[in-house]
Amino acid sequence: MKLWPINSLRKGILTTKFPMGKNETISPWSTLPVRRNDSEPYCPVNAINMGKVSLEKCISCGRCMESMEPSLRLDNFEKFREKPLLKRSFKIFPIDSGTCGACNTELFSIGNPYYDATRLGIFFVNTPKQADALAIMGVYGEEMESVIKKAVEVMAQPAVIILFGACALSGGIIGRGLRDLVDPDLIIGGCPPDPFVILNALEKVRGR
Ligand code: SF4
Ligand code: SF4
Repeated sequence: MKLWPINSLRKGILTTKFPMGKNETISPWSTLPVRRNDSEPYCPVNAINMGKVSLEKCISCGRCMESMEPSLRLDNFEKFREKPLLKRSFKIFPIDSGTCGACNTELFSIGNPYYDATRLGIFFVNTPKQADALAIMGVYGEEMESVIKKAVEVMAQPAVIILFGACALSGGIIGRGLRDLVDPDLIIGGCPPDPFVILNALEKVRGR
């Protein structure tokens, strides 16, 4: 006897109401830290300059907690171009250039029943030829250079290039970033980025 209909009725709808309502499950330190007092903050990767945190360098470690606190804002991203998107759906092809695995996990989690990116028209696809956006994560790797360049080349225009996570942006603590390899339309910070920040950044680059 299948109990899932009863369980579903008992639990109700668990999918987040994003972009409405509170984002209760956000991971605090994956949002950009802000000042909490005047003491000199310590940062192992020198991400703090004059009290301002670089979204490209911050590795979300929380080591600055004596002086800083998580902002809990969903603005840990920057977009450089508005691209006119022709469709209501938005298809993403992810590329792992050399990650620890956490960026991949968080990116794919937007497709799970809790975040349910499909209700916003956001999907993953298996080839860059079908994609509106390329989400590149991880550090630079010589073997991946031609793969990334080829993927960018075969995409239909207008294509959105996303650099995703501190490793892709600055190399994080383990290598070299990808900023000099591709010209991004959108960068999303965090180590790894929080799914709410990812959804917010994707909606903004779509012009929503
Ligand atoms: S969270 Fe870590 S990396 Fe980010 S600013 Fe604080 S100490 Fe630096
Ligand atoms: S940015 Fe952080 S979570 Fe993402 S691949 Fe690098 S080390 Fe892992």
